[in-house]
Amino acid sequence: MDLKAFFKLSYGLYIISSVSGDLDCGCIANTLQQVTAEPPMLSIALHKDNRTTRAILESGKFCGAVLTEEADMNLIGAFGFQTSEKFDKFGGFSSERDENGVRYVTDCVAARYSCEVVDSVDLGTHIMFIGKVTAAETLCNDPVMTYDYYHRVVKGKTPAKAPSYKGEDVKADEPAPAKASAEKWQCAICGYIYEGELPEGYQCPICGVPASKFEKIG
Ligand code: FE
Repeated sequence: MDLKAFFKLSYGLYIISSVSGDLDCGCIANTLQQVTAEPPMLSIALHKDNRTTRAILESGKFCGAVLTEEADMNLIGAFGFQTSEKFDKFGGFSSERDENGVRYVTDCVAARYSCEVVDSVDLGTHIMFIGKVTAAETLCNDPVMTYDYYHRVVKGKTPAKAPSYKGEDVKADEPAPAKASAEKWQCAICGYIYEGELPEGYQCPICGVPASKFEKIG
């Protein structure tokens, strides 16, 4: 099979959020799409290991927010490369709570759709949720982020749990093993730890941010 053929599919970039008890959850996804108009319904496929997936299974609700081209790695990294369990993803960004009690980011977001799950499909690694849209709102008219723009201009990476993840883009940038050293640097965006002196022009192999986003932790 020609796996490169899958690169020809186009996507956007979205924050999918939900709520689990008192915990607001959210993650980055590229596979949100409208599947019917009457009634308006959306589908989203999320990895089973995502905390947000569990929250949607529990609450039966999710909100999809469309990112604009202004969204940077601080926002995408927070929602794409961290877990809601250990990290307050919404802290530092403006947000609202929708009619279903689901929090959604309003920074760099063009529109949001609040959904109630009407069906789900077990796809092995992922679950596809079909959501009936109960509220929708345009937040701004800035150009929306495409997945292509994210890779080309923002220079972002594909999280390992994305439905379209191929693996090779992370491996290609994997640095040579560092020599034993007391120095330790941590990526402020995704939490990746690099041991040793940071090489010039270094980029995080997980989320793609430059060395300037690393903080010395040892
Ligand atoms: Fe990183």
